[in-house]
Amino acid sequence: MKRVAKASNIVEATLWIDMLTSTGIEASVQRQFLQGVIGDIPPDQAALEIWVAHEEQVMRARELIEGLKRTPQRQWFCQCGERIEGGFEQCWNCGALIPGL
Ligand SMILES: [Zn+2]
Repeated sequence: MKRVAKASNIVEATLWIDMLTSTGIEASVQRQFLQGVIGDIPPDQAALEIWVAHEEQVMRARELIEGLKRTPQRQWFCQCGERIEGGFEQCWNCGALIPGL
């Protein structure tokens, strides 16, 4: 088991795990609570670490995650009124691109 990345929230962590496993990389998320502050922070604020089962897949996993990080993860509203979430840069309703690209 080898740590490859730290996700900022569970949505991001799930997205990365899904992406890694879909490419044949065995990956899991480990919740890492900050020492001493357990109870002071909500569980979704704890660091989420992405671990890969096989050492030889670590480099590939890091590349894939870096690629995803470059994609905007915020949600945005399209001109047609559709709310787009996740890493999508194009509206699935009307095909318009994310504003600012
Ligand atoms: Zn649209």
